[in-house]
Amino acid sequence: MSERLAEHTTTRVGGPARAWVTARTESEAIEAVRAADAAGEPLFVLGGGSNTLMADAGFPGTVVRLAFEGIEVREGAEAREGDADDQDSAAGGDRAGEAVVVRVAAGHPWDDAVAWTVEHGLVGIEALSGIPGSAGATPVQNVGAYGADVSQVLVSLRAWDREAGQVVELGAEELEFGYRDSIIKRSMLETGAPSPRWIVLSIDVRLRRASGAAEPTAPVRYGQLASALDVAEGTHAPLAVVRREVLALRAAKGMVSDPQDPDTWSTGSYFTNPIVPAAVRASLPEGAPAFAAGRAADGTELVKLSAAWLIDHAGFAKGFGLPDVAPREGGPDGRGADGAGLAGGRASVSTKHTLAMTNRGDASTEDVLMIARTVRDGVKARFGVDLHPEPMIIGTSL
Ligand SMILES: Cc1cc2nc3c(=O)[nH]c(=O)nc-3n(C[C@H](O)[C@H](O)[C@H](O)COP(=O)(O)OP(=O)(O)OC[C@H]3O[C@@H](n4cnc5c(N)ncnc54)[C@H](O)[C@@H]3O)c2cc1C
Repeated sequence: MSERLAEHTTTRVGGPARAWVTARTESEAIEAVRAADAAGEPLFVLGGGSNTLMADAGFPGTVVRLAFEGIEVREGAEAREGDADDQDSAAGGDRAGEAVVVRVAAGHPWDDAVAWTVEHGLVGIEALSGIPGSAGATPVQNVGAYGADVSQVLVSLRAWDREAGQVVELGAEELEFGYRDSIIKRSMLETGAPSPRWIVLSIDVRLRRASGAAEPTAPVRYGQLASALDVAEGTHAPLAVVRREVLALRAAKGMVSDPQDPDTWSTGSYFTNPIVPAAVRASLPEGAPAFAAGRAADGTELVKLSAAWLIDHAGFAKGFGLPDVAPREGGPDGRGADGAGLAGGRASVSTKHTLAMTNRGDASTEDVLMIARTVRDGVKARFGVDLHPEPMIIGTSL
């Protein structure tokens, strides 16, 4: 019997895969992807499953889970191959400020990589502490939090290019990063394919050497984090303290994976913050947050709204759920396949944050989507603003 996606995703939902490969090396991953593509078999590439909502029916093809790990200093810090535990020389001394390029294997848990950089006194990704999932998935949607995103440090990545049939190296500029967006993500969204053209094998990030884990580091770019650290926005705070405060802020919002806490059984933020013409702001109630977001191609001024605020003010408070109605034919365990009338307390908005759609322990994918649909439609009806999902939804739709 094949693996169920519910066992491998943070929302703990999703049916079985027809075939399952755990790739423990890059070559195993490439081989599995190549074999599925050659056979015309649908392919889904899985990292940590923290941004994936798979249909209850499962995946009618091969799931390749990327499970190869490793951290390697490539440049600076007397670069040595594959020697993650022997890099204490990375930090400190008279070389403070020096650039250090670190390569992280795609299957390496992202937060372990962040913790490693902080321990080794390397500045640059500490504000991205606590984001679940794999390093290889971070460029896919240009993960970000607390004023930082991966595009600020990513130099290049190595990927298996399924179209070219070879390993390629893509520089940051070729990835066309945007807000929760990249050319890799668009290669799925624009074609409807369940996997991207490029399968990331490793990423190279450029960090800066601090003079020790307790030394001042990157400018703090987010108001809430600055207040927690008791420093002015744009100024510095010690590396290890930034990580600790980010983890604490995230945990309070249910944004650090915790097997004991259903508020974290989600894909994190379910909706991206909508970017709309500035004129839309005038139609919203006073107090609706809006941040400058550049201009559209035709010159229209744009603002970024807060999806969490819109959800809350459209009447969906923390913990919002839906009553159960009679189960319908066709869904798993006798529950409806069409998404109507589901949830019944099995799924809800997180009790800690209005942006997360959570599994309370017994939800199906459709249960979670039903809550998300209700929220999306309610925000549209109340404010006329479209919310767009952040996670990849495979084999079903919002
Ligand atoms: C509690 C919680 C908090 C979160 N907080 C944040 C946050 O603050 N900021 C943020 O940006 N995100 C956040 N997320 C979302 C998620 O953690 C990130 O998007 C993460 O990078 C996904 O990694 P993953 O390995 O789990 O991806 P998966 O869910 O395994 O995959 C996501 C998509 O990427 C593709 N993919 C995965 N690996 C590769 C690869 N190596 N090459 C090509 N494609 C690949 C998959 O096919 C899929 O389409 C949060 C999620 C949770 C559950």
